Amino acid sequence: MKSINPATGELIEEYDQMNDDALNTIARDAASAQDKWRRNSFYERSLLLQRAAELLEENKEKYAKLMAREMGKPVGQGKSEAEKCAWVCNYYADNTEHFLEEEVIKSDASKSYVTFNPLGTVLAIMPWNFPFWQLFRFAAPALMAGNAVVLKHASNVTGCALAIEDLMHEAGVPDNLFRTVIADNDQTNELIKHPDIAAVTLTGSTRAGKAVAETAGSELKKSVLELGGSDPYLILEDADVEMAAEICVTSRLINSGQSCIAAKRLIVVEDIYDEFLEAVFHLMNEKKIGDPFNSATDVGPMAREDLRDGLHDQVQKSVAKGAECILGGSIPDRDGYYYPPTILTEISKDMPAYEEELFGPVASVIKVEDTREAIKVANDSDYGLGAAVFSEDLQHAEEIAAYELEAGCCFVNDFVKSDPRLPFGGIKKSGYGRELSHFGIKEFVNTKTVYRA
Ligand code: NAP
Repeated sequence: MKSINPATGELIEEYDQMNDDALNTIARDAASAQDKWRRNSFYERSLLLQRAAELLEENKEKYAKLMAREMGKPVGQGKSEAEKCAWVCNYYADNTEHFLEEEVIKSDASKSYVTFNPLGTVLAIMPWNFPFWQLFRFAAPALMAGNAVVLKHASNVTGCALAIEDLMHEAGVPDNLFRTVIADNDQTNELIKHPDIAAVTLTGSTRAGKAVAETAGSELKKSVLELGGSDPYLILEDADVEMAAEICVTSRLINSGQSCIAAKRLIVVEDIYDEFLEAVFHLMNEKKIGDPFNSATDVGPMAREDLRDGLHDQVQKSVAKGAECILGGSIPDRDGYYYPPTILTEISKDMPAYEEELFGPVASVIKVEDTREAIKVANDSDYGLGAAVFSEDLQHAEEIAAYELEAGCCFVNDFVKSDPRLPFGGIKKSGYGRELSHFGIKEFVNTKTVYRA
């Protein structure tokens, strides 16, 4: 497994893939560690999570530099990511006892109630784009609920995966309760079938989600899938155009455009289209693209060469079908896997810019006649992760967000973001299940009925 610096194309480190025996041993050892861990009190578990939070805060600079080196995230954004991980650890340390307290339900029994027991060891298959956050938002509740975690990270961020394992051990998490494996996709699918793996969670592409769901389904194991998105942002005729443009551009360019919940399709009502497009152009055009270690950088390199080339291919195919590229759209002549902030207009249905997820700094701006058409276009997608509506008529915008848009997280006058207190996840080909909040922690527990005659 190779870690390559995307800003330069240089090899940082090579890691040996583990053999099947090593993977089996890790699964077995995790299960026996979990058998002890599940008997610990919430208080005991919370102390370790709080310590993990402290370590994340203390070492945020170190982790941010590691992310910058392995996947090109600008260092300032990496520090914020480490802070957010500390937040989710503290959040579940503080709230799990309440979330998982027994629930008495009156019935014909003299006593009947529900307990929330851990499932066992959960295999976490994670993506590179938020290499710390994606893992912690799953692992903090999973560990607090009494599960063990085996992490299979994306193969280009093995350094981050090993750093997270070290962090957990330093925080005092018992031996083998949290393990990182270095495995290819075939081995990962075999691991899902291992009798000591109780369940699996995957954050990644829809393609990977289908493969993992198939394997988990064949074993009837619980799975949660957090997959891709092509989030529509609806800019209605009464929107505050400056504010909407600012928020859309910020969202589109977070993590150099490589975020599942970025503003990917900007759907604009024609009355304000020209004004909005001009504002978006101005904002995207002034972003600084460059070295992720430079604090002035807004947009770093994309994480891998194949991802950058794939994005460029989607842009070119869209242009060949009639899209207009009014900003960016060409690979810069420099080392590293850079792609400039790019705007596509004149989008129609048969184009990648309309149909597919564009996982990089490319905004598709789609003109529509009115609100009704905006909603129709927003929902005309295989994906259903996030969505946002911009309007001064808050009640109307809220009704659209709550009842009209086909997505798991709908925001009004803001960009879609994850927050430990709010459930996060998608519908349609964006996956199933939820992370975060009290909904997330209940995904990997046995909701058990206890009945006393
Ligand atoms: P990816 O290629 O699907 O990889 C995600 C993880 O799945 C990696 O660990 C990868 O391992 C593994 N994997 C890939 N194919 C697999 C298979 N057939 N069987 C088992 N494991 C497999 O996705 P990515 O490029 O890392 O991440 C980008 C995608 O993730 C985007 O679509 C983005 O929208 C989505 N995402 C979704 C969320 C969300 O919360 N919904 C959050 C972040 C990202 P290797 O690296 O070794 O191939």
